[in-house]
Parts: sequence; structure tokens; C-alpha cells
Amino acid sequence: MLEQLVSLDQSINLVVGAGFSGAVIANLIANELNEQVVVIDKKSHIAGNSYDFKDENGITIHKYGSHIFHTNYDDVWQFLNNYGSFNTYMHRVLAVIDGIKASIPFNINTLYDVFPNSLAIRLEEKLLKNFEYNSKIPIMEFQKTADDDLKFLADFIYNKVFLNYTKKQWGGAAPEMLDGSVSARVPVLISKDTRYFQDKYQGIPVNGYTKLVENILNHKNIKLLTDVKFLKDDLRLPFKRIFYTGAIDELFNYEYGILPFRSVSFKYETYDLESYQNNTVVNYPNNYDFTRIHEYKHYLREKSSKTVIAKEFSTDFKPGVNEPYYPVVNDESKRLYECYKKLSLEYKNLYILGRLGDFKYYDMDKAIRRAFEVFDMIKKGI
Ligand code: UDP
Repeated sequence: MLEQLVSLDQSINLVVGAGFSGAVIANLIANELNEQVVVIDKKSHIAGNSYDFKDENGITIHKYGSHIFHTNYDDVWQFLNNYGSFNTYMHRVLAVIDGIKASIPFNINTLYDVFPNSLAIRLEEKLLKNFEYNSKIPIMEFQKTADDDLKFLADFIYNKVFLNYTKKQWGGAAPEMLDGSVSARVPVLISKDTRYFQDKYQGIPVNGYTKLVENILNHKNIKLLTDVKFLKDDLRLPFKRIFYTGAIDELFNYEYGILPFRSVSFKYETYDLESYQNNTVVNYPNNYDFTRIHEYKHYLREKSSKTVIAKEFSTDFKPGVNEPYYPVVNDESKRLYECYKKLSLEYKNLYILGRLGDFKYYDMDKAIRRAFEVFDMIKKGI
């Protein structure tokens, strides 16, 4: 299949994977360098894990779980807005704590959601005395506080928000067993901001992520082929450059072992209701086996007499059985990754990128930024 697409003069680029990383690098090579690009994906759809589709009720479902675009990068935001517009959705997450739906990241309002007023007032005063307003404190930092009241609060947040959710999500691992950057994604907010993200730009593409990625790939120099798998032997094909955005251990047939990822699965339920939970995402740190419930219709404020929810369950990743979602980054897996990375450097025209390729817990904007950086390197001839 791929053999038929190579040209003898080695003028064609190959991009493996049609998610954000692959689509953006293909677009830049096609647009700015005016070179030919073939984009392949082993799945039958584009957009990687941001893939969405409208179901029979007219509700846009995020097949691989909620994707909320947020960024502080002007260049990433401007790039995407050339290919689709975004609504002004700002993500707010509720977590069920002691049976109460409370605002997370834990912020000053959350004090009043979960504690009696007098205690909430005392804790608020202590927080404002000890931390700068608007600062963000990772829970593992916050736990180091010397003040007794704040120590009580830190233990409360750790036990009620982080401990059990993290164990469910990361196969039994407590927060301190993971890289600190994981729990730091959801810091304690010393403010009344109830949004999940504080980025300058946030929103959901009004025509969906799939359409957005389709537009990024829509260029006369780009040829897109789905249901095409890339194999290690294909690295020998005379493409000008190969951009690989899949898992690097899979590329090298798991030669040194399997890189650890977490996977997730979804149980869908449809209800004859305008709304099931009046919020896109509700987390259940301490109850049930699922981590959270997504109610998709709220992202694009879609009207329907029915609603669809998805209960998210975290599972071990097994190659060939389910999809890799979250890299489990620790010293051991970093070492394993480096072995594969070294192997990849033997191929001079091979560029690795993407959440799977780089084995990094990228958000969508970081994956796009990385594609920009790879492109800049190529332009500068590095
Ligand atoms: N987390 C938690 N409780 C929550 C939300 C998040 O313990 O209610 C921890 C958990 O370890 C999770 C990490 O913070 O894996 C990052 O959460 P985030 O919402 O960023 O995860 P994503 O949306 O990428 O799945």
C-alpha cells in the first residue's frame, strides 16, 4: 500500500496519525513548504482521540471522553481559528464530596460548599493570610503547610478529592506515587474562580473537533488515507521525512518492553430528560467504580428532549485490546522511553511527536505547540 505512494525522487512526506499533532505538521509542510504530504491513520476516522460525532439525538459525542480546548498560546489559538470557530464555553467541574456536588479545582467557593459557614470563614481567612490571592497551590505543596487549620484543610482535600480518584484512575497508585505534575494539573485555587482552566482562550469548536481537523488537513498537497497501519519495515521506504505520532514502543514492535499507559472505557446511557446532571462533567472521587460522568450536550448547548451520558472507567492498557490514553510517567518508564528514542534516532528522516510518540501527558494545545516546534526545526534545517 505505502510502497505505491512513494516517489523515486523522495519528495513526499509521510505523516503517521491524523490527530492534532499529525494534522498540524502535515498542514505546515503542505502550506508553508509547498511539499506533498501523505497522511495515514490506522483508525477509520481522523482527529485521533479528539474525534467526535453527532448521534441520532443530534448530540455531539466525544468518543474518547471530554475534550475541552484551552490555551494561553496566541499562535496556537490563531492557527486553529483559521480552520474553525470556537464557542465561549468555560469548563466547570463538580465533584461529589460527602454527597455534595462541590466546585473543583478546590477553591474558596468550595469551602462554603462543603463546610459549615463558621469553619469556611475561618479557613478562608487563613488561606488569604498564608497565600497570595489568585495563586495556585499543588495539593502536595499545600500539604506541607505548618498551620493546623490549613493542615486539616490539606488533609481533607487530599483524602476527599485526590486519593481515591487517583487510585481509581492510575491503577491503585496514590498521588505521591505519580509524577507531581499529574495532581498539579488540578491545583488548589486561592481565588473564587470556579473554572477548571484559567487560560486566556477556551472553548469548543462549534462544528466539532473532527470537522476542525478535517479542515486542517484539507489542502491540495495533502492526501489522507484511513485504515492504513504503519509498520517498522515501512521506515525504509524513501519518504522525504516521516512524522510518526503513534506509540514509539509499538513502532519498534515492543522490542524493549511495553511502555505503560492507562486506558479508559465508557458506558453510555440515554435518558428522556433535558439534562441529567446540569453540568458537563461530575467527578465521583469516593463513590462507585467510575471516575466521572460526562454529559455531552452541554458543550455545544445542544437542544434535545433526550440526553446522553458516559460513565468513565479507568483500565490497564493492553496493546491490541484497548487504546493508550495516559502515559504513566515515572523513572522506569522514562528510561524505557529513552531506549526507544535512541533507536528512533538511527532513522535520520524520522520525527517523533504527539502524546503517544513523545510519551508526555500533553493537552491538545501542547501537542500543537510541539508540532510547531518540530516544523521550526525543519525550517531552520536543524
Ligand atoms: N484528580 C483527582 N481528583 C479529581 C480530579 C483530578 O484526584 O477530582 C487527579 C487525578 O490523579 C487525575 C489528575 O488529577 O488523573 C489530573 O486530572 P485531569 O482532570 O487533568 O485529568 P484528565 O482530564 O486529563 O483526565
